[in-house]
Amino acid sequence: MPTFKDIEITTSVTVDIEFEVFCSCGAHMCNETDTRNSRNRNAPQAVVSPCQKCIESETQPLRDRIEELEQLLAEARELQP
Ligand SMILES: [Zn+2]
Repeated sequence: MPTFKDIEITTSVTVDIEFEVFCSCGAHMCNETDTRNSRNRNAPQAVVSPCQKCIESETQPLRDRIEELEQLLAEARELQP
């Protein structure tokens, strides 16, 4: 029987992939994540909004300091003639 050997066939499979997203602090970030394809490479991308919990814990010392300074400013204004 005649035979063609080493015929190369390329196949393509389409799948949906579900994945979970977590911040390094452990917060579940699925609701903060959008998916899209990159314009140039047509590669799948996940775009994740910053974790509000981490932003709040990182900015708390600054917000405390701002409150302190506003208090001092208010006291200084009261001392003005
Ligand atoms: Zn976080």
